[in-house]
Amino acid sequence: MHVDPNEIVTHLVGLKDVRILYYARRGPVGEIAIEQVLTDPRCPRCDGPTRVKDRPVVAYCDLPFGGVPMTILWKKHRLVCTNHECPVKSFTRGDHRIAAVGCRLTTRAAKWVVREIGSGQHISHLAHTLNTSWDSVNTAMRRYGEALMRADTKRLKETTAIGLDETLFSREGPFKHKHWSTTVCDVVNNQLIDAIPTRDFPEVARWLHDQPEHVKGRLQYGCLDMSRTYNAVFRVVTPSATRVIDRFHVMRHALLALDECRRRVQQVQLGHRGRSGEPLYKARKLLVIKATASDPQLQARLEGLLALGDPEGEVALAYGVKEAIALLRDRRR
Ligand SMILES: [Zn+2]
Repeated sequence: MHVDPNEIVTHLVGLKDVRILYYARRGPVGEIAIEQVLTDPRCPRCDGPTRVKDRPVVAYCDLPFGGVPMTILWKKHRLVCTNHECPVKSFTRGDHRIAAVGCRLTTRAAKWVVREIGSGQHISHLAHTLNTSWDSVNTAMRRYGEALMRADTKRLKETTAIGLDETLFSREGPFKHKHWSTTVCDVVNNQLIDAIPTRDFPEVARWLHDQPEHVKGRLQYGCLDMSRTYNAVFRVVTPSATRVIDRFHVMRHALLALDECRRRVQQVQLGHRGRSGEPLYKARKLLVIKATASDPQLQARLEGLLALGDPEGEVALAYGVKEAIALLRDRRR
């Protein structure tokens, strides 16, 4: 098949200020060398004149053309600022229309990858089609997927309730230091909206603050776990939204508080942590499980154990509160 290089470049690149240097077939792969047309490039810092220092060639994986996997060899310009007082030494001219920094796929190929993965295609299959590595496709997917997600505020426009929730993101280093992230959900439509790689106030507040005014204006409810940070985020950024704590988190805190109470009474009564055979230790599961409240036998057993281990009735009181919250939780909306 005869291929006109200029026709290919229109298909493959089709960008103004991009010049094709050559087209070659290397075995099963097509190769196209391109460069940017630079007229009087200026220093990004001082706007002074520059000179070309060298021309590194970087390979990018592009979409196949006529069934042939394509490599784009981009002959870049590394430029030096000629102004001696300028702190900029050398820099390389990029063009995100061709490829994003740190991405081995061209922008066209990366967008195609995001669409394909969105419709259920596997990374390994796409890597094979493009004649590139799994990592390259994965990186492109993450970079462009995140950018698309940021740009996609459509889902947000529809909702009246956003939920913030902390999620354990990773454990790093020799001490397995925990890194937390924040997931942002559309609570009305049960959809994940975004993930923020931190649970700290400044970043989470900025995320919410950066949403368009009409989105924030529509927001009637801010849902949160019992975190003070998220509470503050909604209070400061969207003060007119009602803050709601979801029942799952209320219940979890009730259970934690009950357990804490049991341990404290145990310590006060016996002067040590619970041991097997001791009444409060034996009661610990009965206090937590749902079945206790509806089963008279389990109920009687719990009462007996509490009578022995909880003379002041503190654990019994905490248990009563937890059960009241459970009733509230299980009530149909
Ligand atoms: Zn300069």
